[in-house]
Amino acid sequence: MSPMSNRSNRSNTSYRLPENVAGDFFVDSTCIDCDTCSQLAPTVFRDHGDQCSVHHQPANPDETRLALMALVACPTGSIGANEKHDAHIGIDAFPMPISENVYFCGFTSEASFGGWSYLIRRPASEGGNVLIDSPRFATQLVKRIEAMGGVQKMLLTHKDDIAAHEQFHKRFGTLRTMHKNDGAVRLGIEQVVEGEELIDLGGDLMAIPTPGHTRGHLVFLYRNKFLFTGDHLAWSPTRQSLTAFRSVAWYSWTEQIRSMEKLLAYDFEWVLPGHGDMHEDSIGGMRLHLERCVAWMKTRN
Ligand code: SF4
Repeated sequence: MSPMSNRSNRSNTSYRLPENVAGDFFVDSTCIDCDTCSQLAPTVFRDHGDQCSVHHQPANPDETRLALMALVACPTGSIGANEKHDAHIGIDAFPMPISENVYFCGFTSEASFGGWSYLIRRPASEGGNVLIDSPRFATQLVKRIEAMGGVQKMLLTHKDDIAAHEQFHKRFGTLRTMHKNDGAVRLGIEQVVEGEELIDLGGDLMAIPTPGHTRGHLVFLYRNKFLFTGDHLAWSPTRQSLTAFRSVAWYSWTEQIRSMEKLLAYDFEWVLPGHGDMHEDSIGGMRLHLERCVAWMKTRN
């Protein structure tokens, strides 16, 4: 056992939020309310308003492991623990398997406001590994990704969630894909997407332009099963349906509705967002949720 180290100790017990229940784990006042902890470990963390806090101290090894994963994933190092824990329990859990060869990277970045990024692990014969949006360029994560084969491709959904794209490009020679309307040329991106037509990226991957949250927003579809949705689409546990975020439709809510309707033409079983909850359903179930989402969006014009 070793004490929590490096980023873990950035949290400060003297800034412990009063909303935390008494005990070992806590959130401090530097929390930016990205909701990563409450999504990853909902039995321990909750969003109490404009920040998150511990509502229940881990009571078994599974909950402790999830709390330590949240501690590692937190973009601002705002989660702390008074007792000593093995830091590797949280660190080595990432990339975290989701389904088949798709992983959640953890280690979110403050530069992306804690946006979630994903890794598709593929053999070199299928084009190699793909990173969707950017995690923090943390040494522990980069080493683990390197051991899994590095990163051959990086698919960037939009300009807010690109964080450490340049560091991954330099470290692994990663080829990046992004839409022109989100500044891809200025950023020196290798594959610049233009217009609104679907782009076949090969290897069962497609880029679908979905302007709305930003002008150049893209979603990426893999194997007609996994839809990586950036800030375009997520699951709402409250409404038990798919949802979009009206208050952050920076470019155009009307365009976002139109882009959402476009997605009805595609099959998928997973929604994997940058912000908000992920969700799995049958193709038919997902289509029904998407139709409900479009109808709901039209009431919010
Ligand atoms: S992961 Fe960190 S920044 Fe995000 S809500 Fe939890 S404590 Fe706050």
